[in-house]
Amino acid sequence: MQRIDGKNLAAKKQAELADKTTQLKEKTGLVPGLVVILVGDDSASQVYVRNKERSALAAGFRSQVVRLPESTTQEELLALIERYNRDSSWHGILVQLPLPKHIDEEKVLFAISPDKDVDGFHPTNMGKFWSGHPVMIPSTPAGIMEMFKEYGIELEGKHAVVIGRSNIVGKPMAQLLMDANATVTIAHSRTKDLASVARQADILVVAIGRAKFITKEFVKEGAVVIDVGMNRDENGKLCGDVDFDSVAAVASYLTPVPGGVGPMTITMLLEQTFEAAKVSL
Ligand code: NAP
Repeated sequence: MQRIDGKNLAAKKQAELADKTTQLKEKTGLVPGLVVILVGDDSASQVYVRNKERSALAAGFRSQVVRLPESTTQEELLALIERYNRDSSWHGILVQLPLPKHIDEEKVLFAISPDKDVDGFHPTNMGKFWSGHPVMIPSTPAGIMEMFKEYGIELEGKHAVVIGRSNIVGKPMAQLLMDANATVTIAHSRTKDLASVARQADILVVAIGRAKFITKEFVKEGAVVIDVGMNRDENGKLCGDVDFDSVAAVASYLTPVPGGVGPMTITMLLEQTFEAAKVSL
């Protein structure tokens, strides 16, 4: 079994991006800017936001994290987004999810200008993506496609099973796999006999949010397994949806958690911010 090293690949790609950022700055004076808005004090979100800021700064971007209290109203948040929409020195705007319950997530995500929607969640960007004219693609599945490319994993004609159908991971992942000419099955919590569906996969992508749920009984010998999950195990340690040790015995390729999909998600977010900056020229 070969471990897919997302951490290493992300470091390589982020170093390339830092070079491109230096060149862009020298040629045009433009510095890509990413603003991340965090509402409330969810501890996992604090970590994600810090990592995004750190990576953006390391790539030579301008980066700002706006930390707002839990009590922030929807109107205040929408007004802030509008300010960043109008400020041409910021090219990417990201609102960290989940938002507090009194705020309508959809309204907020739809308020971000599609040109700055580096997460790719705005309906305009989703529509373009689904109709085959992608501009901004959700970062997590985009990062997984980069992993397939880096490791020379063929997708054409393969049977890919995606477990999970969220708008931010499962659905766009299925679309990208289909665009790459895989035959795609999407499974979810109502799928009957999940193990036998999963065992048909040459490529298995798991995005369900259940610690170590997928064991070797779900995996065909030689399958490629991508673990998107980010959970805490019974000892509070970060772990994926896949039971790594069990699945490692049958998979041909496997991503670890941490050090797999997560770092690539951030990398793709930065790449999309860079592209958004270039388009703004
Ligand atoms: P989500 O919105 O909660 O969606 C979970 C999906 O999994 C749903 O479609 C659900 O089915 C399905 N599901 C839940 N339990 C299942 C089961 N027992 N059997 C089969 N399907 C099941 O989650 P998400 O936002 O897609 O995230 C999934 C995981 O990925 C989480 O652990 C999250 O933290 C992680 N994540 C990681 C990254 C990263 O960068 N590494 C990025 C995003 C998310 P129904 O639709 O039927 O409810």
